Amino acid sequence: MTAALQVQGLQAGYGAMQVLWGIDMEVRPGQTVLLLGANSAGKTTLLRTLIGLLPCRSGSITFDGERIDGLRPDQRIRRGLAFMSELGVFPTLSIDENIALGGYFMPDAKMRRRRDELFTVFPDLAKKRRDAASTLSGGQRKMLGIAKVLVAEPRLLLMDEPSSGLAPVFVKQVIDVLRTTIGGGTSLLIAEQNVAFLALADRGYLLDHGKVRASGTREELEASDAVRETYFGL
Ligand code: ATP
Repeated sequence: MTAALQVQGLQAGYGAMQVLWGIDMEVRPGQTVLLLGANSAGKTTLLRTLIGLLPCRSGSITFDGERIDGLRPDQRIRRGLAFMSELGVFPTLSIDENIALGGYFMPDAKMRRRRDELFTVFPDLAKKRRDAASTLSGGQRKMLGIAKVLVAEPRLLLMDEPSSGLAPVFVKQVIDVLRTTIGGGTSLLIAEQNVAFLALADRGYLLDHGKVRASGTREELEASDAVRETYFGL
């Protein structure tokens, strides 16, 4: 089966600073793949290169059999990619406005239908739909970030550190919400420092100084010495 996303020999960075040194990875259709790595390993840089916010200096990115590394971010989004940044939402915009932005490329009626479905999953957001996102708690903001990207029903969702800034109880809520809302035609690539997200993953990659240090199924990564060394200093 063609991988939803195939990355080969990817190199990227900022000016004179090279961050990614030849990344090979893939996300198969319908899978959840976890990109693990400590601070500064290059996770955000990889996601930003995949969505097109940073140029791919060398190597290739193929989505559904098509080379996309030369495309602009909006062209990648129209092909079914979505990116949830660590910040996730625009604090001065209302909940409704944030979700509408996530569905910017969709027909209006379809966006509203999908938004109303999501409000049944996120009743707290529905109650405050006309309020600014800045009035939400950290956990609720994360939920809004998730609703904002899910409204477009992306085929591949790239998520940057959904746990950042959250207390453990909210991290668990985010994991539960992802477990119930992701499925069907959506593949997911999550960049995380938090190993708890392995519970969601079919497969994963451990990134270290811009290179893939280990990869495998969830079980293989849980048993991996490289993951233990990175996370538990063992
Ligand atoms: P974190 O969990 O801290 O976000 P990360 O694995 O996502 O870590 P990146 O944010 O991709 O790591 O950072 C990789 C390297 O690139 C780091 O050394 C970082 O300092 C550097 N870097 C990140 N953003 C920029 C930028 N805009 N300009 C220059 N260097 C950057």
